[in-house]
Amino acid sequence: MSKTVERHEFQAEVKQILDIVVHSLYSNKDVFLRELISNASDALDKVRFHGLTDSHLLPEEDLHIHIERNPDNRTLSVSDNGIGMSREEVAQNIGTIAKSGTTEFLKALEESRSRQELTPELIGQFGVGFYSTFMVADRVGVLTRRAGEETATLWESAGDGWYRIEESERDTAGTTVTLHLKLVDEENGVKDYVDEWVIRDIVKRYSDFVSYPILMKVEKQEVEREADGSPKKGGTPRKVVEDETLNSMKAIWARPKGQVTDTEYHEFYKHISHDWNDPLTQISVRMEGAVDARALLFIPSHAPLDLYHQEMSYRGLQLYVKRIFIMDECRDLMPHHLRFIKGVVDAEDLSLNVSRELLQQDRQIAAIRKFLVKRIMEALSKLKDDQLEKYRIFWAQFGAVLKEGLLSLEESRDPILDLVLCASSHSETEPTTLADYVSRMKEGQDKIYFLTGPSREAVEQSPHMEGFLQKGYEVLFFTDRVDDVWLQNPPPFHDKHWQSLGRGEVELGTDAERREAEETLKEQTTTHKDLLALLKEILDDEVKEVRLTNRLTASAACLVGDAQDPSPQIVELLRQLGQDVPKVKRILEINPSHPILQKMQQRFDKDRSDPSIQTLAELLYGQTILAEGGQLPDPARFSRMVADLMVRDG
Ligand code: ADP
Ligand code: MG
Repeated sequence: MSKTVERHEFQAEVKQILDIVVHSLYSNKDVFLRELISNASDALDKVRFHGLTDSHLLPEEDLHIHIERNPDNRTLSVSDNGIGMSREEVAQNIGTIAKSGTTEFLKALEESRSRQELTPELIGQFGVGFYSTFMVADRVGVLTRRAGEETATLWESAGDGWYRIEESERDTAGTTVTLHLKLVDEENGVKDYVDEWVIRDIVKRYSDFVSYPILMKVEKQEVEREADGSPKKGGTPRKVVEDETLNSMKAIWARPKGQVTDTEYHEFYKHISHDWNDPLTQISVRMEGAVDARALLFIPSHAPLDLYHQEMSYRGLQLYVKRIFIMDECRDLMPHHLRFIKGVVDAEDLSLNVSRELLQQDRQIAAIRKFLVKRIMEALSKLKDDQLEKYRIFWAQFGAVLKEGLLSLEESRDPILDLVLCASSHSETEPTTLADYVSRMKEGQDKIYFLTGPSREAVEQSPHMEGFLQKGYEVLFFTDRVDDVWLQNPPPFHDKHWQSLGRGEVELGTDAERREAEETLKEQTTTHKDLLALLKEILDDEVKEVRLTNRLTASAACLVGDAQDPSPQIVELLRQLGQDVPKVKRILEINPSHPILQKMQQRFDKDRSDPSIQTLAELLYGQTILAEGGQLPDPARFSRMVADLMVRDG
């Protein structure tokens, strides 16, 4: 049989990442072992999962991880009898990074590195754990055989930008990673990684909870024994070498809360999430009654890069049944808007033959999910009440995702509203809760006033704000993309309804004030009736109505939608999604006390067909669009009209 040996160059991005990982990423070199064990444990999870439906994939021996030290030739190897890799998979998984956006990401990383502020949390998302072996090894070999296949593959590299790959042999399926260790260099943190106690210590620290036995051959003293097993009197002890399990394998979620340290929780989180940062907080859940289950959930401290690539980031939770791993990425346990939550669920009595389809219909899974959502909401609410600073970090990272839950009619939306933070005209810097907003509402104010837009700056400058600010009303600013969607039809907050300043007619002030303002407006409308009709005729293609308003104080005009109309941002969003959205005409509202109206009225009274009225109307319309940061239908025509106006006097 001819064996093909191939020599390949690492993908350019991998070289860069390798360089970062080896030279500056980890301050502690011990973590290479954590990464290898975590990969082995992932591979065991996979074979166990596939074995559920295809039992011949399962190894004969129990699933385990084996660490072998060889002090004589200074090698250390980590083996597993997990899923293994085919030749293609080796080439794909080691030596290439297929994740989209890698190049842009690396650019950003280079920049942050030149500013000396390396951000390991970013790089951790790229699955680079394996490369950390080159911190402690001059050469690394991977011998692997995919479960269900006959041939094995050997991959080898000195971490110098090249690797070789060839066909090889391995007795059973699984993977062995062998490190040819660098010389001990305590000063630079390279310990003696063939030393039994060094390895014991690292395994205990980082990988104690791994649910497969991590075995290592150790020397023991054995006393001579009689045939009945009792120690032989006067016998000499002799050295034997045997496998010892180094980790306790205790499911961390099954241990009483008080007995688990934060460090243990954090290491466990890193193990399951592939995140390198400590989580923001953990939630441990115990469910009893109709369904028995425990869960250990984590809120990360950083949003992953792909949080908005919904399919990619929606991985779900790990599912165990009676401490036995069933599946990774169980999406049915978490709603979409909580997709950032990481963790494990361990149920006492689910059928072990779960397939992904069956799971969806499982009433117990639905019950667990509901319970978990409730507990997460409670935990977030507590975080908001007790540790506002921390909560703000959370909100900045995940608030926009959480608000997606407000779009769902199945979820209970009230708890989400209670968690909302948003910018407000009340404070330049501090976001407010809705409850605080309501507590500051003016007497006679019965609605929550808000505006949506692309940014706080844009929204704040909007003419729609004028009347409200002048009368001392507080206005909330919503600037996430999702806000435009849920605020189309927002659920009432503690019985308070919502009022967009950009939509519908707005009534300000006390009843008496309102009545008076309405009267005046009616009179003014009568006075300007014919002019308004003419303006409507001129702007007929763009607006569906021209009317007077008292929501403005300084600006001449603004555009508003009908209460049921989609906002311009939504229309834009739908267009970007490639949808053919019919033009939504809005209403032009004019400030009756602005001189422009008087000017047009004078010209109108003199000569109804004065062409300058048309020009003024178009200019007025154009500048209201510009004021809200919108796009003019015909910018060239608009700027010609402005230029003409500039050279004309009077
Ligand atoms: P990550 O574990 O975050 O994906 P790594 O750099 O640690 O990133 O590993 C890269 C990939 O190599 C893994 O995703 C997996 O597909 C493969 N791999 C690594 N170690 C093993 C192993 N022991 N068995 C099977 N596949 C492995
Ligand atoms: Mg890994």
